[in-house]
Amino acid sequence: MGQFRVTFYLPLCCVIGAVLAGGTDHEGEHGDDAHKHWGYHGDVGPKHWPDLEKGAACGSEYKYQSPINVESDNTIYSPHLRKFFTWYDPPKPTDRMSLINNGHTVQLNIDGDYFVTGGGLIGVYEALQLHFHWGSVDAQGSEHTLNGKAFPLEMHIVTYNTKKYQNAGEALASNDHSALAVLGVWFEMSDTDNEYVQAVLDHLADVENPSADASSEVAAFALKHVLPKDIESFYRYYGSLTTPTCNEVVEWTLFKETVPISEGQLVQLRSVFSNEMNEDGNPIAMGDNYRPTQPLNGRNVLRSFLTEKEAKEHGRKPVLYNVDGAASNTALSISLLLSVLLMKFLF
Ligand SMILES: [Zn+2]
Repeated sequence: MGQFRVTFYLPLCCVIGAVLAGGTDHEGEHGDDAHKHWGYHGDVGPKHWPDLEKGAACGSEYKYQSPINVESDNTIYSPHLRKFFTWYDPPKPTDRMSLINNGHTVQLNIDGDYFVTGGGLIGVYEALQLHFHWGSVDAQGSEHTLNGKAFPLEMHIVTYNTKKYQNAGEALASNDHSALAVLGVWFEMSDTDNEYVQAVLDHLADVENPSADASSEVAAFALKHVLPKDIESFYRYYGSLTTPTCNEVVEWTLFKETVPISEGQLVQLRSVFSNEMNEDGNPIAMGDNYRPTQPLNGRNVLRSFLTEKEAKEHGRKPVLYNVDGAASNTALSISLLLSVLLMKFLF
């Protein structure tokens, strides 16, 4: 677990980039070289990442970058993706979650047996951490956009393939396009608070300022509580970390269904400080911590669900799911049953 610990206290999901870059993002946090480190604003913003992070994959010569704009009309239905996710989502008494402020986001480090599989992923992926990207105003904040529209908040659950890699650093260095799987959740404005996200936000005061040392213990909870109810409907593409060092090792999932967040909760997120300074040398409020969308460069964006038009053309109803995520498409079940019986009859 020692190596897990190392990754836990590195920057973003995205995190792990620092393993390759050879240092933590916190060195120079209070020193003269603070502005040499990447950020989201001014001369350390995304346009400058290729210059700031030597050896990183953030430049325009890299063609499989994230985030992207999802154009729903140009996505392709893939029946391969219509399998269930299987969650081993305890929490066990030994599981731990702790919130940190790494200067770029607030990140919930996950130390426990949280796994995900299915959904078109090959292998078993273990969750390392989740973190957020948000706007200074409600009209922006998400990294991925849908038909050009940004959401006020996007959450990333970062996982890596435990069947192929011993630890996250090894996965990151692999150049394997599915070494990591990041689950992206878009949030939409709601009049009521999101109670499970609030359980995390309650700890923001403990990590108001960036620190490599400060963390706040959060009572471990099941990750399904911060996911949409429908986790069968999603977009899928191959991309990269959205922070330096932008490694192209991520199989991305973007859930179609959004999750609610209130204005008051966004105000809480905007109250913590980043490691970027204003002209007076004072830390600025965290927010607008999103990378602009990157060119698709011919990549396909798949989806796991049929559009209404396709469903009509195929003479099938879109699959509906109940709260527990179980499919309620009886026609599909009956056809599977008939197939099995036919196979038995023939052989
Ligand atoms: Zn992220």
